[in-house]
Amino acid sequence: FMDRARDAWDRSRRPLLEEPLRPDHRVLGRDPYPAVRQRRLLRPARQAGTVAEIGAWELADPRLAALLDGYALAHGLDPRTAPASAALLPYMEQTFGSWYVEGGMRELARAVYERCVARRVTFVFGAEVVRVVEKDGRAAGVELADGEVAEADRVVLGVRPRPGLVPGQVWGADDVAVRAGAAGRFTVLLSLRGGREADAVHRTVVHGADGAAEQEAVFGGRVAAHPTVTVLRPDDPATRPDAEHEAVTLTATTAPQGPVDWRDPEVRRRFADVLVERAAAAVPGLRERILHTEVRTPAETEAETGAEGGAVPPPALAGAAGAYLHPGNLTRLPGLYLAGGWAHPGGGLAHAGMSGTLVAGLVVEGDGFRGSR
Ligand SMILES: Cc1cc2nc3c(=O)[nH]c(=O)nc-3n(C[C@H](O)[C@H](O)[C@H](O)COP(=O)(O)OP(=O)(O)OC[C@H]3O[C@@H](n4cnc5c(N)ncnc54)[C@H](O)[C@@H]3O)c2cc1C
Repeated sequence: FMDRARDAWDRSRRPLLEEPLRPDHRVLGRDPYPAVRQRRLLRPARQAGTVAEIGAWELADPRLAALLDGYALAHGLDPRTAPASAALLPYMEQTFGSWYVEGGMRELARAVYERCVARRVTFVFGAEVVRVVEKDGRAAGVELADGEVAEADRVVLGVRPRPGLVPGQVWGADDVAVRAGAAGRFTVLLSLRGGREADAVHRTVVHGADGAAEQEAVFGGRVAAHPTVTVLRPDDPATRPDAEHEAVTLTATTAPQGPVDWRDPEVRRRFADVLVERAAAAVPGLRERILHTEVRTPAETEAETGAEGGAVPPPALAGAAGAYLHPGNLTRLPGLYLAGGWAHPGGGLAHAGMSGTLVAGLVVEGDGFRGSR
């Protein structure tokens, strides 16, 4: 399976991840995963077209299938419909590793911020952009909520582009549309008494017994009874006061804010409790060690980042006739570029970071930029 995933990676990595989305993006509509042709007695042969079908027909063992489904789910993708090319996700992790930021993710934001300040970038916080301003057929700046207009030669939009925020002529009929709302993330941050044992595993995924029921709930807008829970126990002194304490994070992919009201205290409390219960499989005695609990839901993600429903953008995938692509970095309005998780090549820090690299290339080298060689 991993060999086939590598084939898919070799076939698609440049147009899918390392180059701005090509105008002829239709080539990415074909699935690069070389699914095994399954011959069947007296019945037509079949080939896996989705993650779930790879699990059922190629991996066959339900535990391996659950492992693969877990990768799709963690990226906010429904294994029942996500194209087989999502096989790239475990392949990339196995090949390039999974990265942890010392001190927690916030430290990455701080490091980028400090680097930018050193490079004389000016930040304006607490300023909501309500509209990209267009003048003489070019993006000419942004209008803020207080009516002030900040003029600019170029605008790089790092949020989900919605009508009203961007002028009408940004996309043509052939362009990839902005992806519809996606799943959110529920997080429980735990302060524990008692130190982390030296051989504790950094990341454990606790699977549910019935993955199909969970997928139906998450992608059907309901709270899953038995969620897949990721338990994170990094060995990072920066996240705890001393060696007699431990910081543990639990996360689950959930329906976004909207179909489920994550602001409801009872819904939050009950689901957090389910996560703690299930995480005990990875951290024995977990509940008894809890000193403090902090719960973050899609409602917080929505309130703090403006992402509708607190949705987390999935990474772009090839296949499924292009349904899993994000809009290109270059728009039809000269001077307006798209970056971040809702633009090519999609969400997750690595992918969103690539979008920044691609936009930088387009700005510096011009519209013909085709990625760094
Ligand atoms: C709980 C959670 C856990 C995650 N864990 C991981 C992980 O472990 N690994 C990983 O790779 N990815 C993870 N992700 C996904 C990752 O955070 C996103 O893919 C990434 O942040 C997307 O970057 P972005 O720049 O597009 O958007 P954001 O990081 O959301 O940045 C957008 C910024 O724009 C601001 N903004 C929005 N609208 C406006 C407006 N109108 N005017 C002005 N400013 C505006 C927002 O306030 C925000 O600061 C996680 C996401 C969540 C919610």
